[in-house]
Amino acid sequence: VNFVRYYPIFIDLENRKVVFSGAGEHAAAKIRLLLKTSADIQVFGENPCESVSQWAAGGRLKLWHREPTATDMAGARLVYGANDEPAMDRRAVELGKKAGALANLVDNLEESEFLTPAMVDRDPVTIAIGTEGTAPVLARKIKADIEEMLPASTGLLARVAEAFRPIAATLVSSAKRRTFWNRYFFEQGPKAIEEGGETALEQRLHQLFDEISLEQAQPGSVALVGAGPGDPELLTLKARRVLNDADVVLYDNLVSAEILELARREALLVNVGKKGFGKGWKQQDINALMIEHAGKGARIVRLKSGDPTIFGRLDEEIEALDNAGIDWHVVPGITAASAASAGIGASLTRRGRNSALQFVTGHDVAGFAEHDWRQLARKDATAAIYMGVKAAAFIRGRLLMHGALPDTPVTVVANASRANQRVVATTLLKLPDVVKTGEITGPAILLLGLAPKRAAAAVGFVSNQTARTGTN
Ligand code: SAH
Repeated sequence: VNFVRYYPIFIDLENRKVVFSGAGEHAAAKIRLLLKTSADIQVFGENPCESVSQWAAGGRLKLWHREPTATDMAGARLVYGANDEPAMDRRAVELGKKAGALANLVDNLEESEFLTPAMVDRDPVTIAIGTEGTAPVLARKIKADIEEMLPASTGLLARVAEAFRPIAATLVSSAKRRTFWNRYFFEQGPKAIEEGGETALEQRLHQLFDEISLEQAQPGSVALVGAGPGDPELLTLKARRVLNDADVVLYDNLVSAEILELARREALLVNVGKKGFGKGWKQQDINALMIEHAGKGARIVRLKSGDPTIFGRLDEEIEALDNAGIDWHVVPGITAASAASAGIGASLTRRGRNSALQFVTGHDVAGFAEHDWRQLARKDATAAIYMGVKAAAFIRGRLLMHGALPDTPVTVVANASRANQRVVATTLLKLPDVVKTGEITGPAILLLGLAPKRAAAAVGFVSNQTARTGTN
């Protein structure tokens, strides 16, 4: 795991004392940010720069032409050592710490207790951007992007909303409350400000409340959504949108953590793929849970890995929803076979080689799955075999028995599209050996009849039939 070292919090500086040791340009850069607050800023330095002198003259801070003492630190919440002179900075910071202040040595991360982030100010909405000092250029770019993204009215919208919160809380369902705030923040609110400023905004809020109180409650619904093979960038825009709107997300084991991050923060997330420990989820349990939540008016996302129409038991869930009279729709996703073939740079179909492609499962309700092996054993047959790792020896046996060539290429792609994607090229004959080494962990697909092409070479693939390679 990658731990975040600096955890962002917002500190209350209303009328609190902030002490600066140093009054030059170094200090001014930080003071400029602090001036956004009502803090009592006390600056100590013999050679104040132009800006600091002006601020002092304008009464925005107090300036002392000497070093701070212990007495000066009493009640300070933050202390900055900003002389660009380590010894003097440390002296000041030690005094401040003794008085209970949090300390920052400008440009000295190691000895600082906190960082001063770049900031986008739409009070009461503030966005802090920190890069732990690694990338000021990046911080500036992010700040510029966010400034552009958030209209100046954002702060006003939030402030007016706060006063209205208790009234909005009387809307009966959480769905109504969400609709109310969505329409306020993203449609009606900005429009009202444009048309008539703050007064118009307050009026619009009341109108909107009346409108939504009277609206019929929306019935619950289920989106059966493909989460793709794991890389969040391979989600469809539609999948992102429904995830962002969902009240409840029921997801399978194979859905990656990065994708779950995209769900709305208030959404209830349930892993219905858990097996082995404690309660195993049965299909009926999943159906019952969907129906229960839909009955309460929830918007449900049933999130399945890859494409929900491929080895995803989609029809069983659709039947249950239909029987319960619940609205549903399907959002397709990128299936593992597509991600795997992309990962090895080889096409799943090819003129003159195979004009058909099979999606095959290694496993079905009865155990190892039976297929039309004669057809799969033909020289140019191409198949994407899902859930095939455990069945590898069985599949080899069946195929060889039906006349497949022992040196038919097979490529195993594990964790396709993910950071830990792994490609192992082998032959039908050696397939079970590869699987037995235990190197294949995580979901894997077997591409029968396909060998890796260039993309795999680019990640260091050695063109030897048992060579193996990872991509990271
Ligand atoms: N609906 C899914 C398949 C579900 S069955 C889809 O369209 O992809 C589960 C099987 O899919 C796994 O056993 C594995 O064979 C395959 N699979 C899913 N995600 C994968 C991934 N990221 N890399 C390789 N195989 C994957």
